[in-house]
Amino acid sequence: MLNKLSYVVPPLSEYVGRARILIADERHRERNSLYSILQDAGCSQLFLADNESEILKYLRKGYRIPEQQMDLLVLSSTMPKMDVMRLCGQLSTSELRTIPIVVLTTRSETPPNLEVDSFQQAGALDVFSHPLRDIEVIPRINLVVRIGYQVKKSVQVEQDLRDKLAQQRQITLRRDQALNYDSLTQLASRQYFTSELKRFLGASRNLYRTGAFLYLDINNFKVTNDIWGYEKGNEVLQKVATTLVRRLDEKHLIARLGSDEFAVLLKEVNHETALAVSGDLSSAVERMVIGESPSQITTSVCIGIVDIHPTMTATKVNEVITCAHQACRIAKSRGGDHIYRYDAEDPELKRMREVVQAVSVVRQGLRENWFRLFLQPIMRAADQTLAHFEVLLRLMDDQGRSYSPGLFIPAAEQAGLIAQVDYWVVEHSFDLLEQLSVFDDDIGISINLSAVGMQEEDIYSLIEDRLSRTLIDPQRVTFELTETAAIRDVRKIKDTIVRLRGLGCRFALDDFGSGYCSFDYVKNFPVDYLKIDGIFIRNIIDDHLDQITVQAMVKIAHSLGKKVIAEFVETEEIIDCLREMQVDFLQGYCLGKPEPAERILQQLSGQHKPPAARFEPLHSIS
Ligand code: C2E
Ligand code: CA
Ligand code: CA
Repeated sequence: MLNKLSYVVPPLSEYVGRARILIADERHRERNSLYSILQDAGCSQLFLADNESEILKYLRKGYRIPEQQMDLLVLSSTMPKMDVMRLCGQLSTSELRTIPIVVLTTRSETPPNLEVDSFQQAGALDVFSHPLRDIEVIPRINLVVRIGYQVKKSVQVEQDLRDKLAQQRQITLRRDQALNYDSLTQLASRQYFTSELKRFLGASRNLYRTGAFLYLDINNFKVTNDIWGYEKGNEVLQKVATTLVRRLDEKHLIARLGSDEFAVLLKEVNHETALAVSGDLSSAVERMVIGESPSQITTSVCIGIVDIHPTMTATKVNEVITCAHQACRIAKSRGGDHIYRYDAEDPELKRMREVVQAVSVVRQGLRENWFRLFLQPIMRAADQTLAHFEVLLRLMDDQGRSYSPGLFIPAAEQAGLIAQVDYWVVEHSFDLLEQLSVFDDDIGISINLSAVGMQEEDIYSLIEDRLSRTLIDPQRVTFELTETAAIRDVRKIKDTIVRLRGLGCRFALDDFGSGYCSFDYVKNFPVDYLKIDGIFIRNIIDDHLDQITVQAMVKIAHSLGKKVIAEFVETEEIIDCLREMQVDFLQGYCLGKPEPAERILQQLSGQHKPPAARFEPLHSIS
């Protein structure tokens, strides 16, 4: 009794009480002794097995259904036909390694320490010996199950970590793939091409390698997309890609840079080979046929070439890409399937660079109000009286440098700033018209608008608002739109013209004849004036062809009920000639140069002051 009271069996911890324990011992007496100790201590999930196959059955089931997995396996060391050592080893290196194992031996055959060690080395966490005493067994069972629980937890953490890493690797792999390859064409991506080009430029400088960068752009791809739809457009892109791959040796790199733009890095070629390869690629693309008749599509490309050699001036990868892009744009501007080889000294390229440089000036000009309005008179040919003024924009920076609109207008267009510029012009032109009205409320102005600006809702509202607020006769306001701008999107532009004319304003088709010059198209264009391009007027006295052309233009314009304005009227002789041809209005240096609006206002007010040195009129279009 005393003996029994002399110790207290520590209770099973709560989760050990719930633990699933499998006791594998064929000797029922020994097995039952452990069973009852555990049961008395509060273990409710005890399972028994007689042999290896029963053990494995329980464990496999637990593997399939994790909630039914054992939290402890007690193995008798004396089970017949079973090598406990082997089983311990096997389990501890398998997926089931998280199940703690206890080996049971009998006291009579208490193994030497060596044997305990070898069970533990094989993977057993503890070795119990019969006869079992609850005071010894319970704390050790507590400990072993807890260790198993900790192991299970850390294995889970490890597994989660491994899953996360694998997931991360997958994401990185997919991202690398997306970055390096174009999914539509399976060609290299812009990013990959850029890094390869950079490497090659370095190799060219240091190892004297030569090559060429071809920048290809599909002609009229937008039209293909619009007419045939995106799917067909994609087919065109894929077909161009396969054509390039087929025609080029594997050592060259082919990439898709963006929507319809491709690039080829030709390695170890001289400029003659680069030119020949470009010609071959261009004709191969032209021979391509996409789709079946009657919806067959053919296409073509223009190609800009930049030779790569150790002494080239552009050394940075972005500079080289810009050069190739510019070369391609020049190839495109020349029309058809042109190929253009980059030449830094080419005036066309120089101008393109100037336009790009002018972008920041326009941006700053808009911010700091560097714009000024000039006015040039447009006279009635019949009596040379003033009909209206054309408003011409000037830009002068804070250093007093003036920029020609021939430069900053294309820069504004390229940088997407043209609508802001047009807004500024319209707003200030209306201010000006109000000021002019003080002296003459008949005088009109014509305002140049870009195709983008004229479709801008803000600009339309501004015009509508100013007309209604000032009660200015809308007929005093003419808008000029160049012919090339008008044909970019004939239908939309026509609608906008109709809308603006609906307010009562007039419209002039500027630079008429410089672009498509299709009378058929003029016929349907709702404009009041045709402004014949200066190139037909300048040399009209000596150029018979110009005379015939202008005569025809006047005749047709009149038959369509439109008035004709001639610009670049530079001599008295030209005035006479144009009057004879029934041109309605004249504009040019001979009749009046563009002058600052302030000066014109001063003249009109009769307080003419000497011209301000800052605003010397610019006399030529550059
Ligand atoms: P444009 O509308 O055809 O303007 C006529 C251009 O010819 C003006 O050049 C004018 O100064 C010049 N000019 C007029 N008479 C003669 C002449 O007898 N001989 C010569 N050699 N040139 C003459 P400017 O002002 O440099 O303008 C160039 C172009 O810039 C304009 O061509 C127009 O397309 C554009 N532009 C000018 N102002 C604006 C504007 O406010 N907004 C927009 N969007 N474009 C503008
Ligand atoms: Ca104009
Ligand atoms: Ca013009």
